[in-house]
Amino acid sequence: MLDIRIERTTTPKEKPADETKLGFGHIFTDHMFVMNYDTGEGWHDPRIVPFGDISLSPATCCLHYGQEIFEGLKAYRTADGTVQLFRPDENFKRMNISAERMVIPPFDEEFMVEATKTLVKLEEDWVPHTDGASLYIRPFIFATDDYVGVCPADHYLFMIILSPSGAYYSTGLDPVKIYVEQKYVRTVRGGTGFAKTAANYAISLKGQDEAHNQDYEQVLWLDGVEQKYIEEVGSMNIFFVIDGEVVTPQLTGSVLSGITRKSAIEICRKQGYKVTERKISIEEVSKAYDDGKLDEVFGTGTAAVISPVGHLKWGDKIMIINDNKIGKVSQMLYDTLTGIQWGKIEDEFGWIVKL
Ligand SMILES: *Cc1c(COP(=O)(O)O)cnc(C)c1O
Repeated sequence: MLDIRIERTTTPKEKPADETKLGFGHIFTDHMFVMNYDTGEGWHDPRIVPFGDISLSPATCCLHYGQEIFEGLKAYRTADGTVQLFRPDENFKRMNISAERMVIPPFDEEFMVEATKTLVKLEEDWVPHTDGASLYIRPFIFATDDYVGVCPADHYLFMIILSPSGAYYSTGLDPVKIYVEQKYVRTVRGGTGFAKTAANYAISLKGQDEAHNQDYEQVLWLDGVEQKYIEEVGSMNIFFVIDGEVVTPQLTGSVLSGITRKSAIEICRKQGYKVTERKISIEEVSKAYDDGKLDEVFGTGTAAVISPVGHLKWGDKIMIINDNKIGKVSQMLYDTLTGIQWGKIEDEFGWIVKL
């Protein structure tokens, strides 16, 4: 394994005094992880250095053609003060899958789990103490060649930055309002839907913006071919409870394989629920609603963990789900996942990695 050189800051920042006002993604810790890739040499020179600006040529190819991938996970502080991660191996495994799609060179996943632990350990005091708050971890890789030509780059940077973030829900699990996107699509068959890459987000901004203008929080994406089958929501996978059965779209290549999704499926199965991963059309959901069989709809993702959907609009039709309140399965999943993540309940799955 490579050795990680550590250069400590001589000017540590003041930590946020009020953890209830952290928000998301604005505050960064004192240090960051950096590693270079150069063709011929491979990944090399992993280091932890003071957090700061980086200098790039205006010709940096990533800025023009978007060869970039990222991940998102969290460090949680438990009641006894120790800090832990949730399935970090899964994040780096998925990152290598994204890398393959974007022609970014693969890296050693085990090494990156160790590097993440080393960085978080150094920044341990930045992990919030408030219930529900956590330290968001953002690993990313981007192409750095000074070349305005379209081809896979020869030089890359792998970085990890850390951001203390507030509790996603400050007033309990408020159900969200979403609508079915019928104009735009997020990805198509053969595209990059399964990869965590900047392009998928750039392409979603227009729909997101129009949703916000109409007072909706998110859009529910349909498949890009027939615009008939449900895919996912913004940065969350989607689940339906129909007549007691838990249903989620199967991973066909256009849906991001969420780690929260995977964990939710395992928990539901362990609790005795029937879980099916299959194609599910918006017509089917609408029919289940009319028949009084649409018990719950919820999103899953690292940020919100479980996000109940209370209001779902499809064309002119508005579906109010479970009286706009959190349902039984959603609540069970939220309690189990957050319980494991914050060390309040025993982790029978072996998902927790202590620092
Ligand atoms: C990251 C992400 C998710 C959720 O994945 P988790 O691993 O559960 O956080 C879902 N959809 C998209 C498009 C994403 O980028």
